[in-house]
This record gives sequence, structure tokens and C-alpha cells, in this order.
Amino acid sequence: MRAAVLYEAPGTLEIENLSIEKPAANEVLVRIKASGLCHTDLHFMQGHLKTALPAVLGHEASGVVEAVGSDVTYVAPGDHVIACLSVFCGACEHCLSGSPAICENPDSTNRAQDAPPRITMDDRPVGQFMRLGAFAEQILVHQNAVAKVSRDIPFDRAALIGCGVTTGLGAVFNTARVEPGATVAVFGCGAIGLNVIQGAYLAGARRIFAIDVNPDKLSLAGNFGATDLCNASEHDPVAQILEATNNKGVTYSFEAIGHPSAAEQAFMCLSKGGTATIIGLMGAEDKVQLSGLHFLAERKVQGCDMGSNRFRIDMPKYVQLYLDGRLNLDDMVSQTIALEDINSGFEAMIEGQTVRSVITFD
Ligand SMILES: [Zn+2]
Ligand SMILES: [Zn+2]
Repeated sequence: MRAAVLYEAPGTLEIENLSIEKPAANEVLVRIKASGLCHTDLHFMQGHLKTALPAVLGHEASGVVEAVGSDVTYVAPGDHVIACLSVFCGACEHCLSGSPAICENPDSTNRAQDAPPRITMDDRPVGQFMRLGAFAEQILVHQNAVAKVSRDIPFDRAALIGCGVTTGLGAVFNTARVEPGATVAVFGCGAIGLNVIQGAYLAGARRIFAIDVNPDKLSLAGNFGATDLCNASEHDPVAQILEATNNKGVTYSFEAIGHPSAAEQAFMCLSKGGTATIIGLMGAEDKVQLSGLHFLAERKVQGCDMGSNRFRIDMPKYVQLYLDGRLNLDDMVSQTIALEDINSGFEAMIEGQTVRSVITFD
């Protein structure tokens, strides 16, 4: 099977022919139909964050189950699935208390060290990024890495739910639990930020501030439910939010960029009792500085891992919201591309031209 492999970072991807094993007892072989390009892949290609190489990148995908291991009862060949990097063990304290996205023991879903590797090239093992490796014609994963979904949703739309949609909506519904009438500020209007905005809209937020430096992304934010647009290259977003709210600030803010200064602004624009949710992925060296006095009046800051998802519950719901016409995924697919064009897809991401490029496989 063909797949996009990263050999070194910083670096670009090479399309290679790889061998893939048959499913072990608890594994699922999936024929990938669509796979989205996410900023997290780019972080690893650029060397900002490290993973074992060589590896097949990609972690936002949908497809059809081709084969299952002898212990798999959750899905059967022919089922449509969305893959998720929040692979859960199902037995630890966090899994059992309803927070599988922060599973203590996801390594237990890997193959044993002495078992044959899932994918190889010329008999040498190749890693699966985020336990998925989804820039590929097929993935072989633990059964706890997939959610079964309706066959009615197109594969390119379903793929987006694998990471960006689940993270953005989950940050609103699961992590922050935004309630009707709330005021919200969203820093960053990429794929995650747009999903935070439409999540806040679905949750009934009364006022939604969208902050970005790219005018095209800001106007898109308006289509997803933002009520106030702030170009941070022209105005201080904190000052603009305070002015628009009679100096009160917002009850919920979200950082969806992965930049310390945006996280600081997300804290400073909070009202009394407000909560900042930090979604963006920062580097190991990044430090966020928070004003100590601002903690008075019970302002809070919290992290968010993949939208605090319970993805087997969340993803089918998001699919249904799409099918009911209440979730906009159509405007998030900027272009569909072939696997061979993956590097130019990342170039377009770097230049800020796309919300999402999605690889489709015939
Ligand atoms: Zn992602
Ligand atoms: Zn667990």
C-alpha cells in the first residue's frame, strides 16, 4: 500500500510502497477513503515536535473496515469508520471515569515489542504517527482507535471529524461546557478555531468574538457564527473585547493557535469567574505568563486534549448534526487532493490559503 513517509525533520514527505500486516486479535484493517492535512502533522514535519522516524504521518481520516481480528466485535468488514488518535485502553482510571482522551495507558494498544511491526518497508519497521499513520491507503490499528459512523456522510467530510471538528466542538461542549447566553472569544480561526466558533453558536452563545490576523479567515468565521470580528494585526483584541463588553470581558475564551501570547490574551479578556481553555499545541520550550492579580475574581485556565472527547459517543453525534444540516463541514474542505500532492497541500497550509486540504483515495 502507498503512504506518505517522513524520514527526517525538518523535511517533506515521500510517497512509498509499504507492506501492511493482517489484523491481530484486537486490530482493525481500514481502507482509507479520505485523510485531512492538520497543523499538527506540519509541526512534526518542521521539527517543532519530535516523533520516532521514519513514520507515516496523518491522523484525521475516514474509511471502510476491510478486515477485523478474532476478538473484534465493535465493527465488521464494510462498516464506515472515523479514526481517532485518542486511542484508549478502556481500563485505566481516566477511561473508566469518562475521560478516555487522557487515557493513562494508550501504549497498551500498541503491538508487543516482539510481535511483527504493523507496517514495514523492505522488512524494516515504519512508525504510525499518533498510532494511526493515516496518510496511507490502509491503516492497521487497535480497535479502540475507530468510531463507527453512518454511511450517509461523504468520506471527505467525515475525515474532518477525526481531529479538527472533534477538538473544536469538544472544547466547547466537553471541556468548557459553554451554556446558552454565554459570551465567547476565540483566538485563531483555522480549522480548530472555526469549529470552536460553530460549537459556541450551537451551544447558544450570545456573543462570539473571532480573533485572527488573516482577513479571509475572519470573514469565514462570520459564516460559522462569530458576531464580532477582530483583526489582531490592526487592533489589540483584549482592548476591543473589553470595550465591546463594557469592560466586563467574556465568560469563555479559547486559544486555538498554540502561541503563548494568544494564551495570555485569552486570559486577559476574561470576565470575573471566566474560563480560558487552551487548545493550541505549544512547543516544549514555550512559557505562558499570566498576570497574578487577574486570578482574583476566580478566573480559570485549563488545558484541552482533543476536545476532551469520548470519540465513540461524540463522532456519531457530530455526523448526525452534519446530516441534519446543523453542522457546517462543507465550507471547511478548501480542496481535495491526491496523495502525490501532499507536500503542495502543506505549502498551501503554510501560506494560510486553506482551512483544510483533504486527500481522497479512489
Ligand atoms: Zn490534528
Ligand atoms: Zn485508559
